[in-house]
Amino acid sequence: MIIVLKPNSSAAVIDHVLERIRELGLKPHLSTGEHRTIIGVIGDENKLQTQPLQAIPGVEQVLPIMKPFKLASREFNKKDTVVQLGKVKIGGGSLAMIAGPCAIESLAVLDEIAGAVKKAGANILRGGAFKPRTSPYSFQGLGEDGLKYLRDIGVKHDMPVVTEVMDPRQIPLVERYADMFQIGARNMQNFDLLKEIGQTKKVVLLKRGMSATVKDLLMSAEYVLSEGNPNVVLCERGVRSFEDSTRNMLDMSAVPNVKGQSHLPIIVDPSHATGRPDLIPALAMASVAAGSDGVHIEVHSCPEKALSDGPQALLPPKYAEVMAQIRKLAEILGRTF
Ligand code: PEP
Ligand code: MN
Repeated sequence: MIIVLKPNSSAAVIDHVLERIRELGLKPHLSTGEHRTIIGVIGDENKLQTQPLQAIPGVEQVLPIMKPFKLASREFNKKDTVVQLGKVKIGGGSLAMIAGPCAIESLAVLDEIAGAVKKAGANILRGGAFKPRTSPYSFQGLGEDGLKYLRDIGVKHDMPVVTEVMDPRQIPLVERYADMFQIGARNMQNFDLLKEIGQTKKVVLLKRGMSATVKDLLMSAEYVLSEGNPNVVLCERGVRSFEDSTRNMLDMSAVPNVKGQSHLPIIVDPSHATGRPDLIPALAMASVAAGSDGVHIEVHSCPEKALSDGPQALLPPKYAEVMAQIRKLAEILGRTF
C-alpha cells in the first residue's frame, strides 16, 4: 500500500498517519520530497483495507499494491485451473460447449433440443427453471418440474446440466437436479447467494453483471472461492452500453484480460451479449480465437414459440453449422471439446 499525502503536508499530519499505520502493526516507510510526502506501508495489506485512511485530512490517495482478489488471482495459481464437470473438462485447452433453450418449457421440447445440440457437439446442456425476467408478468420458469425434465434429459443424452439459481433458498432444490449452478448477470453481486454457493462443491457458472467491471467479476468469484468452492467458471455475456442495435455489448477484451489476472476459466455467451442470431456465429468464433474456454449459446427448435429469449435463439441446423466451424478453429488452436 502506498499513501500519498497532499502537497506541503504539515509534520503533524505526517505524524498522525505514521501513528495510525504503526497502531495496525504495520511498518511505515517515509519518503519526503520537496513538496510531497509518500508513505510506503509494509506488512499485511488486509489490515489497511479495513481502515479508511483516505478519510484522514491531508491524505490524498491510498494506492493498493496487491490485487483485492487473492484466491482468484494469477499470482495465487500460475497454472490455468481446469474445472471438472462429470466427464467434461473446462479450461486448459478443453472447451465447454454449453447449449440449450433459455427456459425449460416441456420434456418433449427439451428432449428435441438436447438431441440436436448433442449431435452438433455440445457437451453441457442448459435450461432455466427459475427465470430472472424483467417483467413479473413474463414466464417465470417451471420450477421443480423443469429441474426434473432437465435432469432426465441430461441423463438421456449423457450431458451434464446447468441451470440458474437466483436465491440462496433455491440452492438445496437446484443442487439435487443440476450438475452446475448458473449465477446470472443480475445476481453477480448477490453476495449471500455467492457465499452459500461457495459452501457447496458444485461447479459454478458465474456470469458477468451487465454493469460490472472485470475486477467486480473477479471479486464475486473470490466470494465463492473464499467459502471453499474452487470450481468457478466465469462467463462474459456483454455489458450495457450506448449501442442500441445489440442487446448488450460483448466485451471480448474481458477474455484475455481475465486470463492475465486470473487462473479461472472464462467462457463467452454471444447469445445474451448480442440478442441477435445473425451476430452469434461470428462472435462465437471470435471468442474461441480470443482464448475463451467455451461458448454458451441458446438454441431452440421453434424460436417463435419460445417462452423466453426466442428472438436470440439459434435453430439447431444453424447451431450445428457454427459448431462445425468452431471445431475447425479449435483444431488449429490445439483445443478440444
Ligand atoms: C440466461 O442465461 O438465460 C440469462 C438470463 O443470462 P444472463 O444472466 O446473462 O442475462
Ligand atoms: Mn436467456
